[in-house]
Amino acid sequence: MSNFPKYFNELVKSLSRFPGIGRRSAERMAFYILKMRSEETKDLARKIEEVQKHIRPCKLCNNFSTQDICSLCGNPKREKDILCIVEEPKDIIAVEKTSRYNGLYYVLLGALSPLEGVNEENLNISKLMQRLEEGEIKEVIIATDPDNDGELTAHFLIEKISPYKVKIYRIAIGVPLGTQIEYIDSATLGKALLERKAVT
Ligand SMILES: [Zn+2]
Repeated sequence: MSNFPKYFNELVKSLSRFPGIGRRSAERMAFYILKMRSEETKDLARKIEEVQKHIRPCKLCNNFSTQDICSLCGNPKREKDILCIVEEPKDIIAVEKTSRYNGLYYVLLGALSPLEGVNEENLNISKLMQRLEEGEIKEVIIATDPDNDGELTAHFLIEKISPYKVKIYRIAIGVPLGTQIEYIDSATLGKALLERKAVT
């Protein structure tokens, strides 16, 4: 790529930082952007700016929101004493699709990962602990991914939550091991939620 103008190489460098996008995919995206009409690239840049400007983490659960409190936390029809803990906002979408859960959520915004240097101090649990402290939550379902990092995170959470007066559940593993919540089909994930196992 050294023969290409530096502007192109800089774009490829930025695009290759996206998760799951290697150098080759980043180059393909950059070539595509070069072929786009000027209005299209402006529109794309504007949408990226708008997402950053208008979407922020919900003050209660860290879900994506355009308000301080997200639409799930603010919904009076949701059960307020049960909390499903997930790794990422996209996992909420997966759980919601099952139509088997009507409680609230807490998004960790990651998982413990020794390989990626995410340790207990980096994991986002301060608001979670505060919620448990307040005493309204009676049941917690840990729905982290059933892979190594997710399991490690689940064990860490169980240790942290055990001192509180809450029932702790882990989603049942009819869910294939080593997979990610977002890729599990709704029927399997729904069953895993229904058949959750009590941890304490
Ligand atoms: Zn929320």
